[in-house]
Amino acid sequence: MSPINRREFLTRMAAGTGALAGAKKATGATAAKGPAQRRTSAAGLAEPAFRPLPLGSVKPQGWLLRQLRIQADGLSGHLDEFWPDVGQSKWFGGQAEGWERAPYWLDGFIPLAFLLDDPSLKAKAAKYVEYIVAHQRPDGWFGPYPEDAVAKRYDLWAILLADKMLAQYHEASGDDRVLRAVEKSLRAMLAGLDRTPLYDWGRYRWFEGLIPAFYLHEKTGEGWLLELARKLRAQGFDYPAFYAGEDVAVPTPRRGLWKWAKHVVNTGMAAKAAALSWRLGRSEADRAFASRMIDILDRHHGQATGMFTGDECLAGKNPVQGTELCAVVEFLYSLEHLVSVFGDPAFGDRLEKVAFNALPATFSPDMWAHQYDQQANQAQCTVNPDHMWTTNGPESNLYGLEPNYGCCTANMHQGWPKFAAHLWMATPDGGVAAAAYAPSSARFTSRGVPVEVALETDYPFRETLHVTVRAERPARFPLVLRVPVWAEGASLKIAREDETKLKPGTFFRLEREWKGAVEVHLRFPMRARVEPRYNEAVAVERGPLVYALRIGEAWTRVNADKPHRQLPHGDFEVRPTTPWNYGLLLDEADPASSLSFEERPVGERPFVPEGAGAVAKVKAKKLPAWRLSHGWAAEVAPGRAASSEPLETVELIPYGCTNIRVTEFPRLRA
Ligand SMILES: [Zn+2]
Repeated sequence: MSPINRREFLTRMAAGTGALAGAKKATGATAAKGPAQRRTSAAGLAEPAFRPLPLGSVKPQGWLLRQLRIQADGLSGHLDEFWPDVGQSKWFGGQAEGWERAPYWLDGFIPLAFLLDDPSLKAKAAKYVEYIVAHQRPDGWFGPYPEDAVAKRYDLWAILLADKMLAQYHEASGDDRVLRAVEKSLRAMLAGLDRTPLYDWGRYRWFEGLIPAFYLHEKTGEGWLLELARKLRAQGFDYPAFYAGEDVAVPTPRRGLWKWAKHVVNTGMAAKAAALSWRLGRSEADRAFASRMIDILDRHHGQATGMFTGDECLAGKNPVQGTELCAVVEFLYSLEHLVSVFGDPAFGDRLEKVAFNALPATFSPDMWAHQYDQQANQAQCTVNPDHMWTTNGPESNLYGLEPNYGCCTANMHQGWPKFAAHLWMATPDGGVAAAAYAPSSARFTSRGVPVEVALETDYPFRETLHVTVRAERPARFPLVLRVPVWAEGASLKIAREDETKLKPGTFFRLEREWKGAVEVHLRFPMRARVEPRYNEAVAVERGPLVYALRIGEAWTRVNADKPHRQLPHGDFEVRPTTPWNYGLLLDEADPASSLSFEERPVGERPFVPEGAGAVAKVKAKKLPAWRLSHGWAAEVAPGRAASSEPLETVELIPYGCTNIRVTEFPRLRA
């Protein structure tokens, strides 16, 4: 018997001894207070490198708090008030959609409410969760699940999602009835999977069910939850096998075939399958696959933002292809799992890159409107029947209520709140780790001592970060700080102590006795980088930010006659009012030396063109041959472009601040 099988065997034995084992473990769980003191490996699950702090422990500050407030005042805080698929959902006793949309919305709305600690948002979340729990049937299935699920099919994906959402609510509220509802639902699923095995969405998203199963298992120690996890994995799609083949490398052609395995949202979600599967089986193959999957996506479908294209299936590296918003928020959540489970700083680097670039770029400044598909080179956003998408429709890059399809309308809400909730995590030895950086504070308990860490910064628009550690009583524990891979020359300084040099691409462990308030000053020098992209184009990066051309914008309202489009939740086209077709003139030997950066005040709205906290200036010329094609920015031939236009200085702003943009530029011949 291998060590793994032996461990699984022991877990099953523990489960088999029933009430006694369960009671003993439950006592242990009750006694545990801090996240670091939770039940450990005896439960049968591998310990993650870092544990996310319970929802509500991390609080947004500074620009991040403003961003979450914008979100709450926009679509996220109001969707249920006018959009039938949430407000009149079958999940809440109505007659509209009764599958993924209401649980999707709650999955982002709940952390938003608790992070803002907003009483009216929390009351709203409680009302909807209460309805779902109160209408759970005695057999454990939730209200919308058909009484006769053999005759009337119901894709289990929505149940996996609902249980994940409810586990999150339990973590934030401590409401025990919600945990019992999850337990009953998962028990119904364990039996139901024999009757109707996973198919379609459930089959490709099987790993989402492991999240509530692990959550409950760590509270109760019950072995049937791991049996459920293994059953889901056995019935689910085998992503490592698919990524070992050739099809994943092939961009889906224009008007090509829609495939489950290349679906961009499934892909963003599946990036965490390896982390969840590794906790279940401790397989080195799972650990290795996590990075390999992302490498394969980068190589064949990668974008400057750290995302991959998919409109709606994987679409290659061309920067005019689209990336669906659902894929952005799901990939973020996957990266939060990956950095937590494996403790690899590269996943934290990627998490920041996607969160600071792809996420904010795809919303209107007030977060009432969003795109279905964003493009790195997106010179205009208009209704376009001649579009270049693989399978998406003509409205996919509009800013609107439900451009193309309403999944993103329901699912977009989790992006910022879950990112904020995963900035700080607990280490197994009573310390705290910074997985990603944004202004925030976090409370945790280190071996019985209450501690607060607070991060004051305008990062990613600035390179200095000030962490204050306040321990209620003197306590020894590590402060584990991610040093971004690009931060050559990074340093740390505490009061009059000597400056410490930090190695980029590592976690730096600062272990000491913390007394009173200790200020830790971090500096992550941000040097300009010019990255080679598709078709010999280049993209400009500095720190975790990608820079894109600032283009004048004209917004035009469209679809005003469509249902539910009353302002402020209307649909808009955006057209350029200034030239966008530039090539960059860069020094051949040292391209980054051609760029100069200036800091600007970070705006009240940090991710809008006029709020850009940093700008870059670079010499450029218009390329008259570079035109819109199919309504998009056409490609320029590879190699150095020639232009007889006058030399100009153009301004680049952070990608996340733009609404229309050019990100991948041709290079000019000197
Ligand atoms: Zn979507």
